[in-house]
Amino acid sequence: MSEGRGRFERVIAHADMDAFYASVEQRDRPELRGRPVVVGGASRRGVVASASYEARRFGVRSAMPAALARQRCPEAVFIAGDMKRYARESRRIFEIFGRFTPRVEGLSLDEAFLDLTGTERLLGPAAEVGRRLRAAVREETGLVVSVGIAPVKLVAKIASDLAKPDGLLEVRPREVEAFLAPLPVGRLWGVGPVTEARLLAAGYRTVGDLARADTPALRPVLGDWGAALARLARGRDFRDVEPFREAVSLSEESTFEYDVTDRRALETTLLVHAESVARRLRKEGLLARTVVVKLKLGRRRAPGPRGFPLLTRRETLAQATDDGEAIARAARGLLARTKLQEAVRLLGVGVTHLASARERQLDLFDSAQGQARRVRLNQAMDALAARFGPGTVTRAGVAGVARAGLTHQIKRGETP
Ligand SMILES: [Mg+2]
Repeated sequence: MSEGRGRFERVIAHADMDAFYASVEQRDRPELRGRPVVVGGASRRGVVASASYEARRFGVRSAMPAALARQRCPEAVFIAGDMKRYARESRRIFEIFGRFTPRVEGLSLDEAFLDLTGTERLLGPAAEVGRRLRAAVREETGLVVSVGIAPVKLVAKIASDLAKPDGLLEVRPREVEAFLAPLPVGRLWGVGPVTEARLLAAGYRTVGDLARADTPALRPVLGDWGAALARLARGRDFRDVEPFREAVSLSEESTFEYDVTDRRALETTLLVHAESVARRLRKEGLLARTVVVKLKLGRRRAPGPRGFPLLTRRETLAQATDDGEAIARAARGLLARTKLQEAVRLLGVGVTHLASARERQLDLFDSAQGQARRVRLNQAMDALAARFGPGTVTRAGVAGVARAGLTHQIKRGETP
């Protein structure tokens, strides 16, 4: 496998803030510096959203129940957290990322892929760019970002993780296979606990074991997916950095039989679409970070099919979701801020910025119990919809949708 940089070789950086929320707190409250800080574990039932490195030394990790974190590190300072402040900080960080390349794909508030392919002449070698990026983030925000650089996304992401804390790790094209080989199979994207157990049972422990496997041998273990996973294990990850990821989106819209002005009817329609889109996300095991509302106004401005003004409004959530209620809430907010002056002809809800549900970040402001209840409710609704059709169960308030007079519904979507 010859992979010289002369050929079609990509240079991808993965930048990931170190202990992001906890670091923002330590920066803004000097009395917290050097002390174990846990964000998100303020209530007894909460979960840890972010732990400072001082707290990690005691075995505190994100997504851990707060009660366990308290047991492991009773002297830690527990903070409820302030998502608005973290989101503001995130915008500053992404602004810095954007100075190095326009091709930035955000994965969450504090991490992104940057496509540095072809920037060498302008900016210098990738490792040098990584060093400058780390310095700029530190100087301008007082926060620490670690960076991984590699020819493929998978490896760049693992490299930034291994570079932590406060580091940079570059994996050159010829080093990719050797870098991946000793890692446990669970480090590969798409390998969740179930697949991992199946692979272990079949004797594949490391990524290297998988890379060496021949495809027919993997078929009984993984089915059609085996070949793709073996390719990934060899570092052959062809996914591009996708600044907007618009291709990967789901949406549903409807054209009304009569143009609608009634706010409640519009909101009900949004809820129906939001629930439907959310159901599709859950079915695919995906979470969405950006909610898009699309609407066509009723008053024709020009002849032809495009004569009606089309508006799209979008909001990126602090938290990726597959919950219809959360999507509907964002959609209602977008509709309210549109300050409509006339009737609506078409209304749709879409989501983009999709990620695997395995990367679910825990909501700071939802108690663990509240979140678990919503997940169970969604599962119950999905099961009923699968048995009796999507119209069977709806949340309170949806019954009024008939009055909105839906006539023409379109579903769009592409999933990875
Ligand atoms: Mg991070």
